Amino acid sequence: MIAKPLSRKENGGAQSATDPSPADFPLGSPQSRAAARFRLQRIALAGEHLPHCICFPANEHPSFGFRVELETAARVKCPIHGDRSGTWGFLYSAKWHREREKIRREGLSPQFQKAWLASFPPDLWPAEEEETADGIYLRLKDGTRLVGEEFSWRKNRNAAG
Ligand SMILES: [Zn+2]
Repeated sequence: MIAKPLSRKENGGAQSATDPSPADFPLGSPQSRAAARFRLQRIALAGEHLPHCICFPANEHPSFGFRVELETAARVKCPIHGDRSGTWGFLYSAKWHREREKIRREGLSPQFQKAWLASFPPDLWPAEEEETADGIYLRLKDGTRLVGEEFSWRKNRNAAG
């Protein structure tokens, strides 16, 4: 949310017609504090307790660097629309493409950011890529290690054994 203190007077006009404003009462009086509390409660109810759509915008498709990222995002359902992954596809992308994709993402709409952050909460993501002889692992901020990609010689060996 972006605070706009300068335009607040104009925007607040409609609201203060119905809600008592803290400014309607002497500063620090019980009525003033009650009015302030009432406003805060209304803002909290309107802003945080209603379900938000966390779908990706129809014209801004997410692109995933690894299949495990697609699967992670697909597990997160929109509280309003349910499954979000109907149109997603996965294409292997090289490291330079994954880097470029991070930059593309930052320029997309606020709804895209909301959908992305709901899929990849910032206390865990973005993951650090660890490339080993076996493949690429994704280390989340809490230490969880996901398999990003297994190199094919290993897959073949696993299939044989
Ligand atoms: Zn939705």
